[in-house]
Amino acid sequence: MLEVRDLVAGYGLTRVLEGVSLDVSAGEIVAVLGSNGAGKTTLNMVLSGLVKPRGGEVRFAGERITGLSPSQVMARGLIQVPEGRKIFPNLNVRENLELGSYRRAKANRGKNLEKVFATFPRLRERVAQAAGTLSGGEQQMLAIGRGMMAEPRLLILDEPSLGLSPLLVEEMFALIRRLHDEGLAIMLVEQNVAQSLDLAQRAYVLEHGQFALSGRSSEVRENPELKRAYLGL
Ligand code: ATP
Repeated sequence: MLEVRDLVAGYGLTRVLEGVSLDVSAGEIVAVLGSNGAGKTTLNMVLSGLVKPRGGEVRFAGERITGLSPSQVMARGLIQVPEGRKIFPNLNVRENLELGSYRRAKANRGKNLEKVFATFPRLRERVAQAAGTLSGGEQQMLAIGRGMMAEPRLLILDEPSLGLSPLLVEEMFALIRRLHDEGLAIMLVEQNVAQSLDLAQRAYVLEHGQFALSGRSSEVRENPELKRAYLGL
């Protein structure tokens, strides 16, 4: 579904991505792991059309999307969920969700809203509450709910566990598993290595702008360097 080949990107004189290739197939959960500053956000920005790459290619559902604008990328069903704090704090829950309805998804707004509420009963209870007054976990749910409103074919989740308590992280990962069980392809960009590897079928580990390691999660988990650097073993 998503094919990334030899992506090179950076800012000014800084090179951040130095030839990154990755694939996400339909129905797969793929984890992209890496420490602070490894280039995860930059990769997301290139995929969403916010940063133009200097080299390489991005294909989605067989079509070359390199260089398309963010709205053109979204219209194709490649939807990013930025980390949870990027909701509109002064708008209420319903208004935030409705902002996710996009072009072709607009006609199905009511139906999609029901689906989000079925997934997140807590958002239904707080439909008229200002988003800025939601708890951290609820804001994260809202961010994902807004992504679902756009009828994604592939959902890119940017650090969905960031700032959540261990219990809420468990809940968040259980929820991502449920979205996947419903047939959604998911690219999970995370610093939470152990739990992401439990969830994802395959993983890529980004270091200094390149994938230092990739493969099935079970293999990546057993890699001695990864154990030392990320799992403290
Ligand atoms: P984190 O997990 O800390 O968010 P990350 O893996 O998402 O890190 P990026 O945000 O992609 O990493 O940053 C990669 C490198 O690019 C960093 O060294 C960062 O300082 C640099 N960088 C990011 N955005 C810009 C920018 N707009 N201008 C210049 N340098 C930038």
